[in-house]
Amino acid sequence: MRIFGSLIVSTVCVAATWLPEVITRDVAIIGGGASGAYAAVRLKEDFNKSIVLVEKANRLGGHVDTYKDPKTGNWYDFGVQNWNDYGPAKAFFDRMGVPVGAPGRNVLASRYADFTTGAGVNFTPPANADRVAALGRFLNATAPYEQYFLPGYWNWPAPDKIPEDLLLPFSDFVEKYDIRDSVNQVFQVTGMGVGDMSNALTLYVLGAFGPPMMRAFLGQGASFTPDTRRNIALYEAIQTRLGANVLLSTVVTSSIRTNLGHTLYTKSADGKARIIIARKLLMAIEPTPANMEPFSLDQAEQSVFSKFKFSTVQAGIVAHPSLPINGTIINTPAAAAPNNYLVLPKPDFVVRFDHMGGGSDLFRVLVVGAGVVTVQQAQDMVRQDLARLIAAGTLPATADPAALLEFRAWADHGGMHMHASAKELRDGFVQKLYALQGRRGTWWTGGAFSVQFQSILWAYDDVLLPKMLA
Ligand SMILES: Cc1cc2nc3c(=O)[nH]c(=O)nc-3n(C[C@H](O)[C@H](O)[C@H](O)COP(=O)(O)OP(=O)(O)OC[C@H]3O[C@@H](n4cnc5c(N)ncnc54)[C@H](O)[C@@H]3O)c2cc1C
Repeated sequence: MRIFGSLIVSTVCVAATWLPEVITRDVAIIGGGASGAYAAVRLKEDFNKSIVLVEKANRLGGHVDTYKDPKTGNWYDFGVQNWNDYGPAKAFFDRMGVPVGAPGRNVLASRYADFTTGAGVNFTPPANADRVAALGRFLNATAPYEQYFLPGYWNWPAPDKIPEDLLLPFSDFVEKYDIRDSVNQVFQVTGMGVGDMSNALTLYVLGAFGPPMMRAFLGQGASFTPDTRRNIALYEAIQTRLGANVLLSTVVTSSIRTNLGHTLYTKSADGKARIIIARKLLMAIEPTPANMEPFSLDQAEQSVFSKFKFSTVQAGIVAHPSLPINGTIINTPAAAAPNNYLVLPKPDFVVRFDHMGGGSDLFRVLVVGAGVVTVQQAQDMVRQDLARLIAAGTLPATADPAALLEFRAWADHGGMHMHASAKELRDGFVQKLYALQGRRGTWWTGGAFSVQFQSILWAYDDVLLPKMLA
């Protein structure tokens, strides 16, 4: 009998160490990028909710990528560059104890080349006064529509009331409002992330370069970074603040989602399994098919998300002796010469090589895809484009012809700029998308439900969270 008793005890002990940890919370948040990390802080500290934040990377911050150059010890941001002074942005930095200042700017000598051939292109960007005038017209034409999509589609009009301007291909909008001279700037700053920008719907170009951005460039608004020039500092502060409520290097492997609550089975990179029981679920990841796999979408969710198309963006830091120190070499189709501003590279494409300054040999490079592009494919594109630029004599051959392109850092930002067609929008796509809020006890934040700017997503969360907790 005594032997039997100790057998039971040891079996229970083995089972107890083997059983997954169970975490019970008011809200589980999936994704610790801009929208998820901000929501986690607000839910915990302002709404007094118990939370758990599940993040697949080994840090918070999503598209923020800060790299330390081992040669110089300097820090370089090759993902998010700066924040628009929009809505709660400055107050949030202040609250997290991260002082901010004006972004530093590298002044780079621009050169233009068609990366498909490597040949230089005699491209002339618009004169500054013309660019500013066009940007002003762009702002005037779009400011009346801002209420419909910023900081989210909360006031989006009924399908038959959608302003036709927002559904125009961007090139038509450009002609209609005579804003050609702004196109180069829109594309080079953030518009390129949309992919085929000249054919994209104006609504989605505005999601990449909208009125707040126009105001910043017209001197009517501001942008900033942490004064340490380490953008990741914000998310490090958030991580410290949230402590053990953050599960890093962890993904949901399967789930049961209902109106009454959620059971999420998670696994971390070190193989640890946990079960999360949560009353509400906040999804802060892009609803791409791959991301949604463990969340067993139902028919309604599936039918909305399947209408989304998306572009992909990758960013890296490279070094090669042929690249021009203090310069930027910009991918520009030959047909864009001398000033056909609507002729833009089509995805998949390498955007440009920008010297990162600070006495370094580092260049930031961006790759945009029309769909899924592997890291290997993106890096091969960079390698091939550089080889073409050298072979065409646009960049000098080096004394050491075997000098290799070095990839010092790389980030695959995956799918973003999720968009639907004009037909779907006229069929009530946004209404169907927003009808998912609260269904099956699940709430949605992030770029697909708003636009691709961190501060605007925080303002979007400020609207969403009270609705979620009502
Ligand atoms: C190169 C680049 C530069 C940019 N520059 C700027 C800029 O200067 N200023 C600006 O305001 N915006 C910038 N943006 C856009 C901005 O970063 C995004 O709009 C914003 O980060 C989107 O926030 P999000 O919360 O939707 O997604 P993200 O910030 O991408 O966060 C999603 C998070 O979820 C995690 N995740 C993904 N899948 C899972 C999963 N299955 N389980 C758990 N976690 C998961 C990811 O690792 C990530 O941390 C830039 C974007 C890129 C790509």
